[in-house]
Amino acid sequence: MTKVILTDKLNEKAVEILEEAGFEVKVAWDLPKEEIPQIIGEYDAMIIRSATKVRGELLEKAVNLKVIGRAGVGLDNIDLEVTMNRGIKVVNTPAATTNSVAELALTMILASTRDVVKGTNAIKENPSVYKSMKKELFSREIDGKTLGLIGTGRIGTSLAVKCKALGLTVIGYDAYVPENPVVEMKSSIEEVVKNADYISLHLPLTNETKHMIGKEMLYMMKKGVVLINCARGGIVDELAAHEALESGQLGYYCTDVFEKEPPEPENPLLQHDHVIISPHIGAQTEEGSYRASVQAAERVIEALKSS
Ligand code: NAD
Repeated sequence: MTKVILTDKLNEKAVEILEEAGFEVKVAWDLPKEEIPQIIGEYDAMIIRSATKVRGELLEKAVNLKVIGRAGVGLDNIDLEVTMNRGIKVVNTPAATTNSVAELALTMILASTRDVVKGTNAIKENPSVYKSMKKELFSREIDGKTLGLIGTGRIGTSLAVKCKALGLTVIGYDAYVPENPVVEMKSSIEEVVKNADYISLHLPLTNETKHMIGKEMLYMMKKGVVLINCARGGIVDELAAHEALESGQLGYYCTDVFEKEPPEPENPLLQHDHVIISPHIGAQTEEGSYRASVQAAERVIEALKSS
């Protein structure tokens, strides 16, 4: 019987799907990670999230392993050179959390516009500022504004659909995909950043995109623009963003990611009033996690059947 081991916590539905497909399933997500190499030799497939590191001794002992399923996107916890050389298939679930991340970016758009974070913090700290905060938080609507997307793949497109329904015009730039059914595509990043009230980043961190949003790009934007980074730390030059916030060029920087995570306590962005932070929670939703578990199980079944 084909045997599958689950070494990181998944939704129970994944177990059900694998068993229904006729596989023997070992739930080992409570097992200490250092004990996995001792038993991995028995298994034909394993499903992981990010905690299990599939490299070194674990891979050496995985003599029967044919498929690794990663419930999630990143594959940096797998030694892909070894798996490729040994013909071990690696499958992941890149679309499972698309909606979760898009909803977080939308949260950032709305939260920065009405600044409920600032209101909450100020009033909790000192209820006597209630009336003055009411004046300070006089703001605007998002309806009728322009959202600029850098990267119009899965997450960018999902955010575009939501924002169009809320009355925003959505323009975008993508270095590799020039057309999009819901985004008004521009042929350069400059054309997007110059014309948007909100700019949301949805592209990977690569050599090409590292510090892509630096001083020059920030000062090309409309004064007071809101910049949202639910993609990766390192795409935005954090010191340049801080300087642009100080000068009022950048209205808000809303970020789910930092170049170094957790951020250093002395990172100046942590002290700025117009910075809204979430601790890399883009993909962290019940629904996204459920979809990642189900899709990982389904993809592992497919891969095992075709191997
Ligand atoms: P995707 O691959 O569907 O889309 C990324 C898009 O970026 C692609 O269309 C690609 O052509 C484009 N792109 C690549 N390089 C570019 C460049 N130099 N300039 C302009 N466009 C460029 O990926 P996705 O699922 O939409 O995810 C987007 C990013 O979101 C991921 O790369 C990842 O870094 C990030 N992410 C973050 C979280 C989180 O927890 N915050 C979770 C999932 C993904």
